[in-house]
Amino acid sequence: MKTSDHILLLGGTYEARLIAEKLTASIPGARLTVSFAGVVKDLPDLGVPTRVGGFGGADGLADFLKSEQVTHVVDATHPFAAQISGHAAMVCTALQVPLIRLERPAWDAVAGDDWVRVGSIEAAERALPVASRVFLALGRKEISKFYGREDIYGLARMIEPPERPLPAHWDLVLSHPAQSADEEIALFRAHGISHVVSKNSGGERAYAKIEAARRLHLPVIMIDRPELPKSETSADVTELIEKLKAYSA
Ligand code: NAP
Repeated sequence: MKTSDHILLLGGTYEARLIAEKLTASIPGARLTVSFAGVVKDLPDLGVPTRVGGFGGADGLADFLKSEQVTHVVDATHPFAAQISGHAAMVCTALQVPLIRLERPAWDAVAGDDWVRVGSIEAAERALPVASRVFLALGRKEISKFYGREDIYGLARMIEPPERPLPAHWDLVLSHPAQSADEEIALFRAHGISHVVSKNSGGERAYAKIEAARRLHLPVIMIDRPELPKSETSADVTELIEKLKAYSA
């Protein structure tokens, strides 16, 4: 890479923060801009130029890449953020801008896990047995897909409040995922949870609930990832930075 390069880092994950920190140290002089969707109000200060909010679709992203003379794009968005990843892949192909996507490996069931794998949020809602007491580790936009199930109890955990209020008999925990299975077990026990609904996000930071479900012998309705367009990928931050450094723009 050349010091005149301009890297656009699409963020919104823990890994994106690590990439921002390590990139500035690994490629001194290269220009880096981090982009957040602006969903979470409490944004981290990464000490690099940051922009917040959507680009205005694929066309807006293309305009941004051209006007800001972006030479490389790093997509470190969440594996379920399919729209922005799709736009990035399409626009980078069209403009011939190199793109690397950080793709954390998905979780696999291990001995003791009781998973029902489904392909969508809607399928997860249908997979829940009558009168189940469900821990829903979903986002603010996704949770309302379960509101029609008047027979279930939901304990929802998310970072920002839901777009539509929860059903009156449900409970809401506004926080990041707990980092220990013991904490998750205590939460599940306190609310008499019988089922867990989770996206297959992968990584370690959201895994405690999966381990807790295993230890409590609770079924997990595991939502498979959306398919993303083909692109160069890296499974971890170090590999991604090495690949980026190897580009001779
Ligand atoms: P999405 O469905 O793929 O994107 C919806 C729209 O949000 C995009 O079309 C884009 O708007 C804007 N957007 C998304 N990420 C952006 C970014 N980094 N910078 C600028 N604009 C962005 O994404 P989502 O699922 O709503 O997720 C939004 C953000 O939350 C992402 O950055 C993602 O990494 C993070 N996140 C998502 C999840 C999840 O489960 N989906 C979990 C944790 C964190 P325009 O079309 O106007 O450009």
